Amino acid sequence: MKERWDLNRRAVRLLCHLDRKYFLCTLFSSLTTAIAPYIPIYFSAKIIDALTAGAGGKTLALYAALTVGLAALVGLAGALLKMHADVGEAELDRLVDWKHAEKAMDLPYALIEDRKTALLRERIEMETQTGYNVYYYAVTAGGLVRYAVQIAAAVLLTFSLFRPGLLSAGAKLALLAGIVLTAVVSVLTGRRYGRLRSEFFAGCVDDNICGEKLYDYTSNDSSGKDIRLYGMRAALLQKERDFNENFCRRERTMNFGVAWMGLLSNFVTYALQFGVYLLLIAAALRGGLSVGSIARYVSSIMLLLAGVSGLARTIRISVTNEEYMKRYLDYFDIPNPMYQGSLSVEKRDDDRYEVEFRDVSFRYPNTEAYALRHVSMKFRIGEKLAVVGRNGSGKTTFIKLLCRLYDPTEGEILLNGVDIRKYDYAEYQALFSVVFQDFRLFAFSLGQNVTAGADVDRARAEVCLREAGLGERLLRMPDGLDTMLYRDFDPHGVVISGGEAQKIAIARALYKNAPFLVLDEPTAALDPVSEYEVYRKFNAISGGKTALYISHRLASCRFCDEILVFSAGSIVQHGAHEALLQEKNGEYARLWHAQAQYYDDSLQKKNPVK
Ligand code: ADP
Repeated sequence: MKERWDLNRRAVRLLCHLDRKYFLCTLFSSLTTAIAPYIPIYFSAKIIDALTAGAGGKTLALYAALTVGLAALVGLAGALLKMHADVGEAELDRLVDWKHAEKAMDLPYALIEDRKTALLRERIEMETQTGYNVYYYAVTAGGLVRYAVQIAAAVLLTFSLFRPGLLSAGAKLALLAGIVLTAVVSVLTGRRYGRLRSEFFAGCVDDNICGEKLYDYTSNDSSGKDIRLYGMRAALLQKERDFNENFCRRERTMNFGVAWMGLLSNFVTYALQFGVYLLLIAAALRGGLSVGSIARYVSSIMLLLAGVSGLARTIRISVTNEEYMKRYLDYFDIPNPMYQGSLSVEKRDDDRYEVEFRDVSFRYPNTEAYALRHVSMKFRIGEKLAVVGRNGSGKTTFIKLLCRLYDPTEGEILLNGVDIRKYDYAEYQALFSVVFQDFRLFAFSLGQNVTAGADVDRARAEVCLREAGLGERLLRMPDGLDTMLYRDFDPHGVVISGGEAQKIAIARALYKNAPFLVLDEPTAALDPVSEYEVYRKFNAISGGKTALYISHRLASCRFCDEILVFSAGSIVQHGAHEALLQEKNGEYARLWHAQAQYYDDSLQKKNPVK
């Protein structure tokens, strides 16, 4: 109970924090909806009784003016509140999206790569779209206010019916039993109704996740090529058809069940209405009730019954929603498990930052195998270091650890002799300019892509683009640095090639101007001329920075001071190119000869040796 209370309190606090005005307008608009029907009920009875009693025109006119005036006032207030609630709902929509985006960016990278967290995020995003959690909470809170007020007002107007002498004891008992029966039927049908809906919507979330993926496959331009060339249209359509049929079948089952519940509850309500009429007519015939009050009692009792069943349904829905709300809050409560130190990284103009890996081993979360094993090495300041090795040997993982996207499972990484965990996280990461293999550019302007922010130092951005080899292309960009990349947001955006994108990513790394420059397969998408240019300029580009260079093209590593050779998660060799080649049975010599053989074979085909 305490847990539920805390959950609901947090939900209210969250809603108030997100949009207090929306929440309050929803509650007060529900209040006006609840009160509105009672105004004509109360005053119509007064008018009828006044007419029967032969009251004067003044009294009748006053009642008529009060009926219309109060109804108009409550109606107007309701309309205004509803308008603000509708506007607020749209704003809440944006705020909730904003909160999702903010949380996703605040999550530690390890959790972004973790499939379980990704699924939880997709699930609650879908649930939010389906109307659960925060939204549902606001709507059900409004429902609770509406039905509670409706019941209270109905009780006030019906109370006098239980005055001594109006109804017989049996009739009173029958009336109370009818109300209790309605409540019981409402609770039971409401429970079934709630279960049917929550089962359906729980399944919808999985369906929607799957549906979105399918839609993405069919409409995405990169999968579009494979779909066409491998004739995957029919197979994808079949999947879509199966998915739709399954969805419609489940929806039919839910709607059918809900309709039955509605029928049952309506039947009980109408039967009771009939009973109420009979009781009141009998009382009127006995002379105990005025004509006006019959209409008032009947309408109030009907509103009371509707209120009871509405309240039971709303309570049921809000109980169901608690499960969604809990999941929602659990996601936003996910802590950052990475220790975040507060030590400031010393600002140095000479870039004398020294990093050391000390017996570092690492396993990705939820995996058994080690991706890195007992890695020990030291970056010498200003050194150009190459990292080579076969696919899956741990090179990218090594960089992820260096940049503290993950913490080592065992061992430690030191910056100027201090464990990197002790440093302020953002300050530590500011030391690295990295171009990952799977770097991402954004559909913003070229300038914003280079500067990674809103403020563009245009002159410096242009210098970086030229250094990265995009100088000539920049001249052909229609709006220079303001040219929009890709067409996601702008139909006139420029679609750039993979190689051009890689150069822009390199320019972004140069613009950041961090003491460590890390390039993971920086030339994979470049043509041979651009690749040669990057190598040629590498020393100039990296200047006095400590530079790390991962490459499969071993020839390109020769210009580095030192080469680290990775195999199965460990550094198996290190040294300069010539020295490593001398180790005939070493991994480096094997990789080198395998690549040299390829080039030799190609040459031999062109110039076959006679
Ligand atoms: P390389 O960059 O040398 O190709 P990686 O560092 O990417 O190799 O990968 C090293 C090992 O770690 C591989 O066996 C790979 O399957 C595994 N690995 C990489 N990323 C993840 C991840 N996010 N979760 C689990 N295992 C991973």
